[in-house]
Amino acid sequence: MRPTLTVIVDPADQWMRRAACIGQAPVYDEDASRWEQRKARERCLTACPVLAECREWARRTKFTGTAAGETLLYGRRRGHPESAAS
Ligand code: SF4
Repeated sequence: MRPTLTVIVDPADQWMRRAACIGQAPVYDEDASRWEQRKARERCLTACPVLAECREWARRTKFTGTAAGETLLYGRRRGHPESAAS
């Protein structure tokens, strides 16, 4: 099962409680429209106090969708494979 930002299962991920996207999960999904994804990225970059923690989480869990102001595929920025953290 793919991890989502709406499920808190690891005590190390308690930072999610401060996420600006709480209750907004559909627009962060990989199937969201381009407009929704753009608005989601904008929210990350302008309103979220846990951007750095989210970026680390997204790469660690190989998240697909929008997170940390980026559109990701298995934890890597779409179209930018060289930018991924290992
Ligand atoms: S950076 Fe974006 S996806 Fe990550 S927790 Fe914040 S609002 Fe949610």
